[in-house]
Amino acid sequence: MTHPMDQFFAPQTGRIFSCFAGAEERTGQREMAQFVWEAIHEASDCFDHWKRTGGEPEEKPDGLIQAIEAGTGIGKSLGYLIPSIQAHRNPVMVATRTKQLQSQLMDEDIPRARVILGQEVKAVLAKGRSNYLCLTALKRAQAHPPSELSKADYGLWLALPKWADETATGDREELGRQAEGESDLWEKLNARAEKCIGTQCPNRNDCYLTKLRQEIVNADLIIVNHALLLADCRMRDEGSGSILPDAPVLVLDEAHGIEEQLTDSCAEQWSNRATAMLFHDLEEEASKEQEGALVLGYLNLWEDAWKNILSLIPKESISIGLDDPRLELKPLADAVGAWILAGQAVFLEARRLADRVRDTEQDNAMEKAIWRKLAERIALAFKRMELIFAQPQGWVSTISREGPQTVVFKANPIDVKPFFHKYLRRGFEALIMTSATLRDGSGYNGLKLRLGFSEEEAERGVAVDSPFDFEKQGLLFVPPGIPERKAGRDGLGEPAWIESSTEAMTRLLAASKGRALVLFTSRKMLAAFKTRLQSALPSLTFFVQGEGLARSQLLKRFRQTPDAVLLGLASFWQGVDLPGDALSLVIVTALPFAPPDDPVIQARIREADAIRPGLGFKGIQVPQMTLKLKQGIGRLIRTRTDRGVVCILDPRLMLPTEDHLGKAYAAQVRASLPPFPVTRDWEKAEEFLRGI
Ligand code: SF4
Repeated sequence: MTHPMDQFFAPQTGRIFSCFAGAEERTGQREMAQFVWEAIHEASDCFDHWKRTGGEPEEKPDGLIQAIEAGTGIGKSLGYLIPSIQAHRNPVMVATRTKQLQSQLMDEDIPRARVILGQEVKAVLAKGRSNYLCLTALKRAQAHPPSELSKADYGLWLALPKWADETATGDREELGRQAEGESDLWEKLNARAEKCIGTQCPNRNDCYLTKLRQEIVNADLIIVNHALLLADCRMRDEGSGSILPDAPVLVLDEAHGIEEQLTDSCAEQWSNRATAMLFHDLEEEASKEQEGALVLGYLNLWEDAWKNILSLIPKESISIGLDDPRLELKPLADAVGAWILAGQAVFLEARRLADRVRDTEQDNAMEKAIWRKLAERIALAFKRMELIFAQPQGWVSTISREGPQTVVFKANPIDVKPFFHKYLRRGFEALIMTSATLRDGSGYNGLKLRLGFSEEEAERGVAVDSPFDFEKQGLLFVPPGIPERKAGRDGLGEPAWIESSTEAMTRLLAASKGRALVLFTSRKMLAAFKTRLQSALPSLTFFVQGEGLARSQLLKRFRQTPDAVLLGLASFWQGVDLPGDALSLVIVTALPFAPPDDPVIQARIREADAIRPGLGFKGIQVPQMTLKLKQGIGRLIRTRTDRGVVCILDPRLMLPTEDHLGKAYAAQVRASLPPFPVTRDWEKAEEFLRGI
């Protein structure tokens, strides 16, 4: 029996083959397209029936969730683009985790989909508001040029007038090199919601966000990232600043990261960066204002109160809960109270300036709107800091020092299930969740505990196998004689583990002549091994994450340099795509369990253990580690011709079915990895590497 997707994917006769001579036959892609097609049709039948029978809001059905683990190499983008566009439930929203995938979709996959479908597909890439220029902010900055600029910002300032005259989108990325990295100037000029004066804005008709909204309204396909999708869901929920329209179908690509993104996007947070921006904007506005003297006076006291808070935060780069013994909570909470009190005077004065009656009311509407917005931002700062320090039930409050200048205060949701339900399951008719790594050792059951999948949703989940021949293309090597790492608080490991791991890495890197990615779980660990490896292997070139080069630059240089080794941290466990000879060895230094002192993970484990002792380890720690490990290992084989070795320097992977603690997880983890032959034999591993 033929399937509607056969016209595109059936071997020989499908349009994919007539449009692209030499297109590979991919059974997995065809299967995936069928699953997506069926899910969208089942969901639309259900919603059409609901609408026909009255469409009462309280009877609105939940969205249908179709999870699809799509192994590397099946061509999953076309596997979901073709059926979702062909289903004509527009607009279709596609959310990705990474920028790389967005570029690949816009530049390669969507143009291909247009050819295969034989129709125009209007696709729009929507980014977060802070990527776009605010015309009002630019005009105000040009009227009162900034007195101090860093060297990089000075270049940006010079480039702005010409670019602003020419750009049709206001997207910062068009500025090329000037768009890279953090910029104080761009922070002041971007179209962030908290500064936008909306209907009071004189530039509203020309505003790049207004234009983006108009483009999106007519789009068949909207590409966003997870963060924008969730931020928009929140804004819509709160009734302000939403950009994205209703869409019947959401394809959540790279869905393995959605739990983490929900935690981040649904957290309440305030930071010293937000404070600095608020102080700066207040100061700037008050300095231009005839009646601004009072604000300036109160602002000094308010800034001192903030400095007092910062002086009570430990100086190390850490993330700690409010109950951490390294923190003196009482004095800190008092300092926050004093800061809120000192800020009340600024708030009241900002409100007074926003509400005053002026002679030329029309001309001053914008100034009043700006003061109203500033007062709202002050109130928001109070609300967030109060909430964070109130430590509400179901939330974990943390303070993170992310470098010498950045302190972030957060209240993180312990349970993201309600947000997943409200924003994703209830927000769309059909939700297609896909990734190369969605299933942990227990299939989709893990998503019941972590995202609130129902029994039916978990059972409905499918897996489409990779076309690669892992048995022949690779080898999984766990060197014999390596002791357990036992990381401890320093994030390093026992001396015996460091010594034997250094020896093993040196031997393997010599056999592979570099061409390797070494994945670490902590910055300290990376630093310790970097020095050792560089002195043991002077003929190899080492590229190190976090030493100045941007990720894309680092990957480009690695690809172009013979005998190179790339040392990477968390973000290199995923999204690194290095097909061909450049990468023949991936070394995983340790099973990537989340840091045991992470306050949010700890709270989640406690809650799970309260349901059933041991569930925290089995249901949260092991599945998260498994998914991350699968991601890391997935860097190795990217095409049918790639060959290579994955080495894991953690003997826990080879634990017997039941170890001395009764933790039967290793066999489950092994079973969920790509089916590489496993060896503990040095000769086999070295021979394989030499043969590539
Ligand atoms: S509408 Fe908002 S973002 Fe757009 S130009 Fe005006 S203030 Fe800026």
